[in-house]
Amino acid sequence: MTVAPDPSLAPYVGRFAPSPTGPLHLGSLVAALGSWLDARVAGGRWLLRIEDIDGPRCVPGVADQIQRQLAACGLEWDGPVVFQSQRDAIYAEAFGQLLAAGRAYPCGCTRASLAQEPRNAEGETRYPGRCRAGLPPGVTHPSWRLRVEEVSTCFEDRVRGTLCQNPAEDVGDFIIRRADGLFAYQLAVVVDDAAQGVTHVVRGADLLWNTPRQILLQRQLGLPTPQYAHLPLVTDAGGRKLSKQKQAPALSDNGQALLVARALAILGHPPPSALAAGPLHELLTWACAHWAISRVPAHAAIAIDAA
Ligand SMILES: [Zn+2]
Repeated sequence: MTVAPDPSLAPYVGRFAPSPTGPLHLGSLVAALGSWLDARVAGGRWLLRIEDIDGPRCVPGVADQIQRQLAACGLEWDGPVVFQSQRDAIYAEAFGQLLAAGRAYPCGCTRASLAQEPRNAEGETRYPGRCRAGLPPGVTHPSWRLRVEEVSTCFEDRVRGTLCQNPAEDVGDFIIRRADGLFAYQLAVVVDDAAQGVTHVVRGADLLWNTPRQILLQRQLGLPTPQYAHLPLVTDAGGRKLSKQKQAPALSDNGQALLVARALAILGHPPPSALAAGPLHELLTWACAHWAISRVPAHAAIAIDAA
């Protein structure tokens, strides 16, 4: 018999896990800075994981650019950078475990065939369970879905408080392996967080409603659930998310102290104006001395004037 370690005594391991679909912008800097500060102030480690599992969406050279941007902003990570594209074997092992337990089944539905199904508040299709009873004839390359039971999944978010979702109602059986053979984000992120010993996930609120799905997967794979904190997204004045896909302006190559000062203000920690001019290390020292996650606004998004 093994005694489960008390999670409150576990050393803090945090991470930043960007997808290399575009360079960092102010919104992704907010997520990076918040998770870095939370780890550093706790005396923990801070890991960098490049989420390049969806190869077709990745842009060559961007993973290197993100590393340069983080370093230029003084956000140094611990240990080697991990690339999801090199970790298929461990995702396959977890996938095999779910298959062996009868938790996953093949699905022949295409995006087009599900286009008329109801969507949830995030705009995601709620899968109606069409293939639960069997794959339609003629499907040679199915995707694989996790069988999701009706159960309310709750967690305590360190920024947003207690949140509950019934994934069966909200998203239905979700994809863990795609029809093109790639493992899905939900599976990869859960396996990686556990494999890297991540104890604290601090990330953008765009992933808030992915969390109950990830907790379901953790439970079914027998993995621990980290503590979660979801930071506000940054939108433009019109409420549109600053996203790489929408060509948000990348961070400039100089004036990092000013950028970090803006990110700190969004995180509820506006620095004294004299510090915003730099030097960067003094600003980061101030931020470490003042960081309290309770001061982060419990909002899904914060609008800023044009970057
Ligand atoms: Zn289906």
